[in-house]
Amino acid sequence: MNIHEYQAKALLRSYGAPVSDGQIVTRAEEAKTAAGKLDGPVWVVKAQIHAGGRGKGRFAEAEAGEKGGVRLTRSVSEAAEEARKMLGRTLVTHQTGPAGKQVGRVYIEEGSGIARELYLALLVDRQTSRVAFVCSTEGGMDIEEVAAATPGKILSFSVDPVTGYQPYHGRRIAFALELEGQQVKQCVRLMGQLYKLFMEKDCEMLEINPLIVTDVGDLKCLDAKMGFDSNALYRHEDILALRDESEEDPKELQASRYDLNYIALEGEIGCMVNGAGLAMATMDIIKLYGAEPANFLDVGGGATKEKVTEAFKIITSDENVKGILVNIFGGIMRCDVIAEGVVAAVKEVGLQVPLVVRLEGTNVEKGKAIINDSGLNVIAADNLSDAAEKIVKAVKG
Ligand code: ADP
Ligand code: MG
Repeated sequence: MNIHEYQAKALLRSYGAPVSDGQIVTRAEEAKTAAGKLDGPVWVVKAQIHAGGRGKGRFAEAEAGEKGGVRLTRSVSEAAEEARKMLGRTLVTHQTGPAGKQVGRVYIEEGSGIARELYLALLVDRQTSRVAFVCSTEGGMDIEEVAAATPGKILSFSVDPVTGYQPYHGRRIAFALELEGQQVKQCVRLMGQLYKLFMEKDCEMLEINPLIVTDVGDLKCLDAKMGFDSNALYRHEDILALRDESEEDPKELQASRYDLNYIALEGEIGCMVNGAGLAMATMDIIKLYGAEPANFLDVGGGATKEKVTEAFKIITSDENVKGILVNIFGGIMRCDVIAEGVVAAVKEVGLQVPLVVRLEGTNVEKGKAIINDSGLNVIAADNLSDAAEKIVKAVKG
């Protein structure tokens, strides 16, 4: 789960990390009062969406020469005016995809004098199974280019969970970032705060880009992006409260309400599968036969008829879906439960596209009988490749 910059900054502040003062605005009428609470002389108006690249982003239907999602202003009324212009519009950045994201909240923040823009991130390094620091002197808006063109300018190392964060980690970062004097001390302290926050809140990712050296020589977190391990949210009610459902894919949101492992994809074949491994294999074999999966969906081991019905409804609600492949290997999951769910869902929402069903394992005969007796127009398949071939053929002809 991701959160907004302003929420991440509030968390950073609560761990003692240096961030600017700011005010969140959700309605244009509030903007002037909000900006008035800040000192200036520069007010920065920042669109809050769960995507980076806002500074270089563009609003849909932007006027000629109109700035992106981060704007520097020089008075309270100018800040309020820019906030008003952003609210409710769609911002497109290289991270949002072409559809962009609607701006429902704008953060007005005190402007900082910037001497240097640095890059810093903490993430879970899957290779070492440890938390890693990543940093670079080349912070700011083009870190992806830096990573591609000059990867040597990015330093990365992981922290041994037994020792945890140690001051020498912070000094290593400070020297890599070419910090001097008091900044080294500030860096050692700040990295400790970030590591503590990362561990205590079960983060997946914490990115500060840019981390700046201000014009008076202090470190400050100017941008913040944070993601949390969804499997750990049950023990972080405070973090869960920060969830902004308007930022999530509606189908994924619905799936999460039913505890389904669902990820929306771009293809044309909807998949309903049990087990993540089989789901991956099903996606692979769909590609092998020349089509693309519309989703990843693992209904899990102990799925009920209701859960299966809901999963089927989510798949059919995707207008890109031109055919559905149900691929179940009944182990803990019983084939008859899946069959009942599919039949119930089709009764409720209808079936406008071809449906291929492959059932194998526990209660397979019962499951097949339920489907046969339902009168549904189902194409039966015997094994994985037969199923994939049949659904691709049904969709592509
Ligand atoms: P994004 O990464 O989404 O483009 P940032 O918050 O990193 O958004 O802002 C983009 C750039 O805008 C920063 O690299 C920085 O140069 C400038 N900026 C952002 N916030 C401030 C601020 N409070 N004061 C001065 N400049 C800022
Ligand atoms: Mg940034």
